[in-house]
Amino acid sequence: MTEPVFIVCNPVTLSPRAIKASSVRECSRCYCSVWVSPSSVNIMANEHPEAEIVCIPCVSKMDETEIGEMEPLNAEQFAELREHRKERQ
Ligand SMILES: [Zn+2]
Repeated sequence: MTEPVFIVCNPVTLSPRAIKASSVRECSRCYCSVWVSPSSVNIMANEHPEAEIVCIPCVSKMDETEIGEMEPLNAEQFAELREHRKERQ
């Protein structure tokens, strides 16, 4: 069996300012609106079409065995965050 893949996203209500060019999607668990950054959209388009979008509050309620292993940020995600931090300064 393959491990489920989760894309963890910030709910729109918790973070009014998203990473540039983020799109709004729905959490697959609670259906709240979340920000999905372009790199995450890429991951779903190319590597993991089966990925499930979950918001941070839902992830924090999940069982550790369900979450499995966290993958480190990829280069594109790092670049987005760096850019985002720069804009906030
Ligand atoms: Zn949720």
